[in-house]
Amino acid sequence: MKPVLPGATIGVLGSGQLGRMFTIAARRMGYRVHTYSPDSDTPTGQVADVEVTAAYDDLDQVCAFAKQVSVVTFEFENVPAATAAAAERCAPVRPRRSILHITQQRIREKAFLKTAGLPLTPYREVRSRDDLRRALGELGTPAVLKSASFGYDGKGQFTIQSADQMEAAWAAAGGQEAVLEAFIDFACELSVVGARAAGGEFVHWGAIENQHRRHILDVSIAPARVMEKVAREAVEIARAVLEKLEVVGVLCVEFFVTGSGGLLINELAPRPHNSGHLTIDACITSQFEQQLRAVCGLPLGSTEMIRPAAMANLLGDLWMEAEPAWASALTLPDIKLHLYGKLEPRPGRKMGHLTALKRGVGEAVEAAIGARGALGSRSGSG
Ligand code: AMP
Repeated sequence: MKPVLPGATIGVLGSGQLGRMFTIAARRMGYRVHTYSPDSDTPTGQVADVEVTAAYDDLDQVCAFAKQVSVVTFEFENVPAATAAAAERCAPVRPRRSILHITQQRIREKAFLKTAGLPLTPYREVRSRDDLRRALGELGTPAVLKSASFGYDGKGQFTIQSADQMEAAWAAAGGQEAVLEAFIDFACELSVVGARAAGGEFVHWGAIENQHRRHILDVSIAPARVMEKVAREAVEIARAVLEKLEVVGVLCVEFFVTGSGGLLINELAPRPHNSGHLTIDACITSQFEQQLRAVCGLPLGSTEMIRPAAMANLLGDLWMEAEPAWASALTLPDIKLHLYGKLEPRPGRKMGHLTALKRGVGEAVEAAIGARGALGSRSGSG
């Protein structure tokens, strides 16, 4: 693979905050960035050289976009298959399209993990009410029904506490293809963000500990407060996933850690991940710079962590009473503020994040949550 060198133009399909942070990393290294999505004045478009506003199913436009750039990457995995195929006809696409195909649908993703012999949450495929009834009989309750496609941040999910909630769950999943998962009474959640170069080199940022609220990531902590052995095993599983998928780029593996220290894969994200945002401030090379290096065929950078860190997400809920009190949080030492330029705060919408850098992990968590609290949040801590 011939390296795509600084000065070249990278194309990003999608225009959210992940594309924005990728673009900032790319522009810092002298690349130009074009972004493509149906929206305008987007988080990515605000910092890119060119923002193309067109429908994903306008395949001529997708091809014209790809022809303007040296390599195309994506910042969210729900890019329609036909869009990715059109881009691939007109430019190299990394990671390759088949990875999107697998990870954008839970049934395919789980089948891949199972075939690869990797540990995952017990589940059943659900295509009809009868399937759901049978699956509930086999897995018992509580269980979580998740629509197979377009699910993220708990969207299209329903936790079934008892069998009489079956109809409500089926309706919530839209009566479409879904998976039923056993409910895992986990000790904690972890993620491993890994990167793989075209030549097969693999790097990672170690295990990151994640706390969710209402199914949305709330706080990420690195290094994770788990036994060394668990962290090591999580990294080895992530390495296996990236190798088996032959990823060129960044991919995140999310895990549940059981009470006995066992690891179960919850899901994969074939791109930089919210839990890896703390790598921007805490590590020598961030997940976004690493994505750039990998898709451009450059050597990967050091993932060494300079300081323990904790990241707290800032959701739109924070804006509901008044503009957050930015200065109050910023007077606290060792806090970095990231805002995504989204024009309209809505409850549950990711508007930005804070990263706290401290000498110890416990201190970092306290500082991140404290700083978010200082913004005047009603949903500040916990
Ligand atoms: P997901 O969108 O599948 O990543 O789910 C979002 C969050 O919901 C996870 O990070 C967990 O906190 C929770 N969750 C999802 N599936 C399960 C499960 N099978 N058992 C327990 N908690 C779950």
